[in-house]
Amino acid sequence: MTATVALKGIPKYNSHCHLGGEVPLATVKKYASPEQMEAIQKGFAAIVEGHDYEKAFFIFPLISQVINTLERLKEAAFATCERMKADNNRIVLMRTGLKLLEGKSYEEYLKAVLEGFEDAASEDFCVRLLLSLKRTSTLDMAKETVDLALQYRGRGVVGIDISDVSTKGDINTIMPELLRAKGAGLKIAVHMGESVLETDQMTILEKLEPDLIDHGVNLCDEAVAWVKAHKTPVTVCLTSSIAVKMHEASSPHPWIAEHLRSGHPIDLGTDDSTVFGDICLTDEFERLASDQGVDKATEIMKTSFERAKKWMQACL
Ligand SMILES: [Zn+2]
Repeated sequence: MTATVALKGIPKYNSHCHLGGEVPLATVKKYASPEQMEAIQKGFAAIVEGHDYEKAFFIFPLISQVINTLERLKEAAFATCERMKADNNRIVLMRTGLKLLEGKSYEEYLKAVLEGFEDAASEDFCVRLLLSLKRTSTLDMAKETVDLALQYRGRGVVGIDISDVSTKGDINTIMPELLRAKGAGLKIAVHMGESVLETDQMTILEKLEPDLIDHGVNLCDEAVAWVKAHKTPVTVCLTSSIAVKMHEASSPHPWIAEHLRSGHPIDLGTDDSTVFGDICLTDEFERLASDQGVDKATEIMKTSFERAKKWMQACL
């Protein structure tokens, strides 16, 4: 049996993925004009070749311009889940930012996503949602997002995610709403350590005490010490972190190295599988296996899956 077949056959937890970058290419193609598709394909090629971190975000509005109705969104959410199921992803922690489509409310957007997920739900497939905010989000947007997260908790939403360009905006603007979410028991995941230029790492860690660190590649020494001391799980996206140059391909992901040293909890994720070369979670584990061996990759996969089962139970 090849490593790919063996790794594919094991139930997996996809800890870090964004709906906008996970929509299967076939769904995008179905609705894109030839001009839109050409721009998207060019964008994908540029990103796979390697793109500076801040410049890689241009691709997401291109996809949003195609998946621009609630019906398409619901279909995209369903198709994304089906694709993950085919790769034996059994537990998925998805992220999406609320948008206004067709002049409808943010709640209508959320309902379309959750309906797509529900259509794909089965006994052995569970997808849970984090609603995304940005460091540039307004306080009003944060309030509306946290309100909806609380309203739809127990119906698929488990928390809030901070993503998008980590060097722009001021996290303090939305901090009161993040603290309200935290206080109400929602989970908090934060993209950080994406750039050495971030200045808010300790503010976020000390004020918000996140439940998950997304990427964490370029954390300052103090932040690394905090994450280690709190044993906060880190989501590791091997392909994307190299593609957007968070670290060089020749140097190991720091949290894989830390896991091997100390057993620090890590979970793998695809980040934006369609955008980063139409990869799947098995490809990410195979990349890990090529460095650390199939046995170690399998062990990390199984440990992460068991921890995710408990975590998801605690979220509900
Ligand atoms: Zn991400």
